[in-house]
Amino acid sequence: MSDNFKKRKSTFSKKLLAWYNENSRDLPWRKTNNPYKIWISEVMLQQTQVGTVIPYYNRFLERFPDLPALAQAPLDDVLKQWEGLGYYARARNLHKAANEVVKDYDCKIPDNYLELIKIYGIGPYTAAAVASIAFGEDVPVVDGNVYRVLARVNKISEPIASTAVKKKFAEIAAELLPTGHASDFNQAMMELGALICTPRNPKCELCPVSFCCAVKLAKENPEWLPIKKVSVERPHYNIAVGIIHRKGEIFIDQRPVKGLLGGLWEFPGGKQEAGESLENCVAREIQKKFGLQIKVKTLFLNIKHAYTHFKITLYAFDCEFVSGQPEAKLNWRWVTPAELPNYAFPKSNKKIVDKITGTSDEH
Ligand code: SF4
Repeated sequence: MSDNFKKRKSTFSKKLLAWYNENSRDLPWRKTNNPYKIWISEVMLQQTQVGTVIPYYNRFLERFPDLPALAQAPLDDVLKQWEGLGYYARARNLHKAANEVVKDYDCKIPDNYLELIKIYGIGPYTAAAVASIAFGEDVPVVDGNVYRVLARVNKISEPIASTAVKKKFAEIAAELLPTGHASDFNQAMMELGALICTPRNPKCELCPVSFCCAVKLAKENPEWLPIKKVSVERPHYNIAVGIIHRKGEIFIDQRPVKGLLGGLWEFPGGKQEAGESLENCVAREIQKKFGLQIKVKTLFLNIKHAYTHFKITLYAFDCEFVSGQPEAKLNWRWVTPAELPNYAFPKSNKKIVDKITGTSDEH
């Protein structure tokens, strides 16, 4: 932190809090101090836009109004409520953590950072957010928005990928945090990054902390900060799956709970191998995984989808069941098309479900 900035930190906090008081958005999780509700909102908001989260947050709390309700629910129900929100490990971790709190903390969410971070799946960000917003503990929260604001205000050009640099940002945020105001201050920093100090076209003319912003004072375009690690091109895979029809029913299987999209349901299939046709890929994968012989018919739908580390094109084929019986230990079902919406599918598979059930908005 520059000497100049240190001198101005008290004015920084005052101006930021006054701005937040006037300009903060009216969001459902800001109407409560309930640690359970704040925890849910913070987990949902990771990697996800506020506008996307609001309806999920409301529906989730309607279905699981408190911690015991979430802990007692089957994981399938939790994943169903999360369907479409992505990053499903968040839902699985939440469910596991809720059970841990019921069992080890007598149903009471711990009121401090050091205890919260011991709970399964709760990392430094969530622990700091819940501790400060729900319980007022003076710990700083540093998310992507806060990194951006601090990088620009202090003109920090080191890439934020390394642990050492992240620690440096956390120290600056802690230094700025006015004692006793952690809840509002942390939310104000995140709100400033979301509304004013945006990645592109920041609104410096409306910014309450422009008086001490190093990049602004240097008359530079702030967009060059923060520096992130150089992104590498994600690999692409072709995935072929079968919509296997048998006497009015369709075959689906559940992914193992551990791993990508764990616990979600899907249409069976797999990755195309070099030199293999998509039709042969579907037949091979389904024979290999489930021992089912099928006749691959026509392409029903293809979907492009990007995950964090790779991209796929998913080809879904209508198939006819010929023979075979999957092993009982695998989790699979024959379901009617009308029953498909009862299961939680990943986003790409959900488009297939929507087209089968006629709820797709694709024309
Ligand atoms: S003055 Fe501009 S660059 Fe600096 S913190 Fe405010 S919005 Fe961001």
